[in-house]
Amino acid sequence: MNEALLRALPSVDEMLRQPWMQDVIRAAGRSLAVRAVQHVIAARRAVLLAQGSSGNSTAGIVGELDCAAVMAAVEQLSAASLRPLINATGIIVHTNLGRAPLCETALDAVVCTARGYSNLEFDSERGSRGHRIAHIADCVRQLCGAEAAFAVNNNAAAVLLCLSALAHGRDVIVSRGELVEIGGSFRIPDIMQQSGARLIEVGTTNRTHLRDYRRAISASSALIFKAHTSNYRIVGFTAGVALEELVALGRENGIPVAYDMGSGCMAGAGIAALRDEPTVQDALAAGADLVMFSADKLLGGPQAGLIAGRRECVAALENHPLARALRLDKMALAALEQTLRMYVYTPERLDEVPVVRMLRAAPEDLRRRARSFVRRLKAALPACGARAVQDVSQVGGGACPLRELPTWAVELDSVDMGAPELERRLRQGRPAVVARIKNDRILLDMRTVAPHETAQLLKAVRAALAL
Ligand SMILES: *Cc1c(COP(=O)(O)O)cnc(C)c1O
Repeated sequence: MNEALLRALPSVDEMLRQPWMQDVIRAAGRSLAVRAVQHVIAARRAVLLAQGSSGNSTAGIVGELDCAAVMAAVEQLSAASLRPLINATGIIVHTNLGRAPLCETALDAVVCTARGYSNLEFDSERGSRGHRIAHIADCVRQLCGAEAAFAVNNNAAAVLLCLSALAHGRDVIVSRGELVEIGGSFRIPDIMQQSGARLIEVGTTNRTHLRDYRRAISASSALIFKAHTSNYRIVGFTAGVALEELVALGRENGIPVAYDMGSGCMAGAGIAALRDEPTVQDALAAGADLVMFSADKLLGGPQAGLIAGRRECVAALENHPLARALRLDKMALAALEQTLRMYVYTPERLDEVPVVRMLRAAPEDLRRRARSFVRRLKAALPACGARAVQDVSQVGGGACPLRELPTWAVELDSVDMGAPELERRLRQGRPAVVARIKNDRILLDMRTVAPHETAQLLKAVRAALAL
């Protein structure tokens, strides 16, 4: 062991006394400077320990090397961990990249609401206690065509609350073909267990018939549950039961039907690519007693789980003790209200909702943007190889990820360093750029790059390509 070297490491105080440290302390503040110094010393100790006795000594030297290392540590420690990046993957609802970017009016509402106090649960007309959901309930009702509405922290919470409130200690009938796992280990059977409901599986993986549901009905049946199997598809010899048939069966037996729609496709959003997705409006019109969906998937709002349906069902969820634990926070509520208002009151402006704009983007426009990007990149770096290519984007996020949208991307040559290295450089740059690798090529899909991000993307690509 390098004990002599380890002992020779400078102390924090010794480092802090160095003349060059005084500028660092002035610029970064003493607390951050001390942390940076500790960081550098710890890193050097780790190197010495890893080297064992074979390392050559620079241990006691407090010099220029340390100055650069301390400054780098200051920069690293002062950067936020959660920070924006550029999504060039072409996956619109990308859960790992934060799902839906918000529209400007939603952003403004978040800032206004978060900066000060608000009437979150205060009725300023009457001077009495108000209800936070009152700020959005009307909009959800009108938008979905529902008697009543409620909202919680996310759709997983909505499903948990629904099963807990409507089926605790009783049976929930679900098709085997719909016992899905949605990314991030959300599994319908696990949620079912948490809720205290008993899962009654019917049918087979590929085929479930109305008679399977009918046979499963008993005195302890509490709920017929349908889940939108948005993230996979069973093809070939398949059969499912239409929502209308489940509703009729439920009515016959006095059992409500709840539908976890996941992505929450809205009728009238004018998105050609989602033409045959089931919509929330259709599900309610078909008689579903309760529908649940995420607000940050196709709707393009903040993280939340929206619940709409019959008054008694919604009230049972609202009054359940879990509702308090799963409640929506005021920033999400502010963003949600504005996003919903866009749909209800100013649908002409729906293109301002980034998810809607990205879903609607026409290939011709994406082609123009990809070509313009290539021109600008080549003007800045004449030797680089780049071209506009046709490809496909994805809706993503468990929201019909199998549906492909024709798009245009910028393909970058990476002959000098190879695609994995270029991908790494883009990913580790500031801002980070997450690209798509296809056939060993780097693609930047213009569909998920906002027009205002183009200049930053250009800068990031130039930096990554520079050797
Ligand atoms: C995405 C999804 C969920 C989970 O929604 P979160 O808002 O992420 O909690 C549940 N069910 C289905 C069918 C989904 O697609």
